[in-house]
Amino acid sequence: MTIRSGFAITILLSGVFGALILPSQSFAQVSGSSGGVVVTPETVPGEFIVKIKGQFGDQHTSKVFKHMRGRAKSHHSMPGMNIHHIKMTGRSSRKVLMDELRLDPSVEYVEPNYVIHLSQTSETEAQILSGEQTQIMSSGGSATYSQDSAPVKVAQSWSSATSPNSVIVAVLDTGLDYNHYVMTSTSGVWTNSSEIPSNGIDDDGNGFIDDVHGWNFASSTNNPMDDNGHGTHVSGIVLGIGQNILAATLSTSKIKIMPLKFMDSSGTGTTAAAVSAIYYAIANGAKVINNSWGGSGYAQSLNDALTYAYNHGLFIASAAGNYASNDDSSPLYPANLSIPSQLSVAATDNYDVLASFSSYGRSTVHVAAPGVSILSLYPGNSFAYLSGTSMAAPFVAGLAAQVLREAPQLTGYQVRQIITQSVDVVSGLANYVSTSGRVNALTTVQNAISSVSSQSFQPVYMEVSPVDNTSRSPQSMGCGTISAGALSKIFWSRGGGSGGMGSDVLGSILALLLLPLFAWSVVRSRWVTPEGRRFERFHMNSEVKLLRDGEELLGRLSTISEGGVSFLADMNLSKGELITLQISDPGKSDSIQVMGRIVWNNNDQAYGVQFGPMADHLLMKIRQWTQQLVPT
Ligand code: CA
Repeated sequence: MTIRSGFAITILLSGVFGALILPSQSFAQVSGSSGGVVVTPETVPGEFIVKIKGQFGDQHTSKVFKHMRGRAKSHHSMPGMNIHHIKMTGRSSRKVLMDELRLDPSVEYVEPNYVIHLSQTSETEAQILSGEQTQIMSSGGSATYSQDSAPVKVAQSWSSATSPNSVIVAVLDTGLDYNHYVMTSTSGVWTNSSEIPSNGIDDDGNGFIDDVHGWNFASSTNNPMDDNGHGTHVSGIVLGIGQNILAATLSTSKIKIMPLKFMDSSGTGTTAAAVSAIYYAIANGAKVINNSWGGSGYAQSLNDALTYAYNHGLFIASAAGNYASNDDSSPLYPANLSIPSQLSVAATDNYDVLASFSSYGRSTVHVAAPGVSILSLYPGNSFAYLSGTSMAAPFVAGLAAQVLREAPQLTGYQVRQIITQSVDVVSGLANYVSTSGRVNALTTVQNAISSVSSQSFQPVYMEVSPVDNTSRSPQSMGCGTISAGALSKIFWSRGGGSGGMGSDVLGSILALLLLPLFAWSVVRSRWVTPEGRRFERFHMNSEVKLLRDGEELLGRLSTISEGGVSFLADMNLSKGELITLQISDPGKSDSIQVMGRIVWNNNDQAYGVQFGPMADHLLMKIRQWTQQLVPT
């Protein structure tokens, strides 16, 4: 058996100078779902990731570590999430241990440590310029990376920014050439002031020795030097949203780059390294995370780490992908995760149209930013033109930093709102990104300045883990899908934070109103699978109640499966609408409440609904109810 999609992740760099855009096929070969290629996900031998229930250090943690004793040990633990990167010791079987842990009631989930691949990039084709050459260009008035022909207004935003605050942007990538003269002249690299360099001591007790300028999670060292080029280029774009990085005279940057290297020189990384880097970013003061990489495989731990980032108020910019494909139907992670403070970013060119390589998605990709022939830093005091959604995402990350400079109290959720509300609507983007817009730096900064006194808030966001996640359903191992998603329940609260998980009907209705904004992509990724309908369907004669906008509507159930229902009802529901259903068993002695989406309707009389991910006990109910029925 094969698994639907691989976990190959690619740096989202496409082509190089001018019109040299790599054909999307170059990337599709590592993208299982978008290229239609079936790939077995590659995992790191002898390693896995485990999430333990409860709080770190409680009886669950000690129980699980006792379970693993003598066979495996923690390579790196993230106590706040109770997620652990585990390495096998000795000759024990990883598979046996993982299977055992799946049955351990103290284990939330276990998943392999997936390998992340950088696809073949065209680094060698990049037009690399010396610093001197770029300064000549800059004095000629061409700040190419700000895409002057499209009114992004980056340059105008520089002079509008007023606040002296600094903001730390974590760049999860191939590292950073922190010796680049632009980085040294601007003091653009984040410095951990609580760490004394090279004394061999973890002075600040954050778990990392001598982490003065970030960390190298690819090789577990304190040196995040870029040995690829991609990370330096991306970091330069972030820095360039604050000032002209091509200028002869540079000033101290208010944007500080925290280089978190998690891919090596050949572009290979792992989910454990990515998750560890995200956790580090949160723990060490970053307010923005940039992800100029992505892959078609779903990892629960990556979703959890970015949810954790959301709960700590961080903003996340992620590249939409260079597959020229629709992310609504071919999800790319992390961009497609429904984190409410994340923006998935498509790339536009100098003429304000979608770049030929850029992926898009009316629901799942949110904004566009310049991503063609972007001039930015390159290792060795040089500069290079590169293209890709990799270059578009850091525009947005840099903009988020500008927002937070002006209004540091805002949560990532609010930052996202300001950026999306400040876009220029561009007709050519109408069907490609949810806002139909390309970012506008000046408007964003102005709106940030007017938000200086806004109160901090964000909706409480609760991830509900999918039931068919291979990591928690051993029976589906090997033939399931690894792209299972998480349904998000969103409840409003003041002051941010992660408390107050409500589950009342009012909350559900609020969640429904908000769900389309954030969660649909991931919900869909679970439902729409290449295997088509994956559940047996049964005729079942019973009642269904629709809970919508505070009212109850009654319908008659026709069929039911673990994936959805069809029903007859005299009401007006639109295809795509999200609803809450209360489904009764045939004897009306029992009922379950589930969330779902209208996927078809027939003359407004018959409707098909697909369920979001459901808790195990609800699935068990459906199984009980349909046990005696014959599949249709
Ligand atoms: Ca330290």
